[in-house]
Amino acid sequence: MDEQLLVQLKETLIVMKKNLQKRIKERSEKVKRNFKGDVGDSSLYVYNRETLYSITERERNKLQEVNDALYRIKMNTYGICDRCGAEISKERLILKPTARFCARCKKEINGDSK
Ligand SMILES: [Zn+2]
Repeated sequence: MDEQLLVQLKETLIVMKKNLQKRIKERSEKVKRNFKGDVGDSSLYVYNRETLYSITERERNKLQEVNDALYRIKMNTYGICDRCGAEISKERLILKPTARFCARCKKEINGDSK
């Protein structure tokens, strides 16, 4: 893989990681605050808490993807499809730096092989 591109993608991933960690932290604090305020019977609090929780959950999953990608960079397996071993196209990695599969495998995994 193009070394310059790899450096660039690594930087993108590190920024993504920092942003996600920051957001997760902020959200967790909000959830905690709402939880404390939930002594009454306000369903709005419950709704907010659940919404915030599911958002945080999604971000945690994203963070996991980012960490995986950074690990693959470290292990020199970044940019290689996890399923068929082919190189993932540059265009795809630029669009989605956490991509683990080539476009073809991704389609097959999603059951969209048309
Ligand atoms: Zn593949």
